[in-house]
Amino acid sequence: MKLNILIATKNEGKIREFKNILSRHKVNVLSLLDLESSPEIIEDGVTFEENAVKKSKAIFEFTGQAAIADDSGLEIDTLEGKPGVNSARFAGHSTPYDIKNGTILSMMKDVPESKRTARFKCVIAYSENNAANTFEGVCEGKIACEQKGTRGFGYDPIFIPDGYDKTFGELGENVKNRISHRAKALNQFYKWFANKK
Ligand code: IMP
Repeated sequence: MKLNILIATKNEGKIREFKNILSRHKVNVLSLLDLESSPEIIEDGVTFEENAVKKSKAIFEFTGQAAIADDSGLEIDTLEGKPGVNSARFAGHSTPYDIKNGTILSMMKDVPESKRTARFKCVIAYSENNAANTFEGVCEGKIACEQKGTRGFGYDPIFIPDGYDKTFGELGENVKNRISHRAKALNQFYKWFANKK
């Protein structure tokens, strides 16, 4: 029998990745898009962990079902870790990503390649009561000099993971879902989850 896992997100890019990464396990991935309604959760934590825990607990309390939430974002060294926990809100919540990515590239137009280091981070929180277990994944890389590729979502067209010379937007999901911050956090979660049953 397949197990239901409820993911506390409406972000279609994330949902696609969760489904893909968990597809080799006997798991049925549901998201907030499958619910008739869900609570508005204000992501006001100062760390990815705080926000992930807040979301997984809120969705567990609302549905009574075990829930996992991910909070993630891009940390750019030369921008002192920005956009970081504010990745979704950087340059305005509903600003299209080609504009957000363009804003970052112009802020970094004079930054040489050696100083363009950055990382995606993801914290996954799992709640099946009013506590939470957390799992972190990090993917190191650098910021490209132009936007490239139409695959993926968010900041993928400007992020080149270590060991590659193409952006996540060009590499596509087969590569991304093996090495990404989300894949690393989710695989840790699943290892723990499968052992606990
Ligand atoms: P939140 O976790 O809902 O706060 O949103 C995280 C934000 O970080 C997303 O909306 C994207 O802007 C960015 N982000 C997180 N993970 C990725 C990724 O895998 N690719 C591109 N952008 C990402």
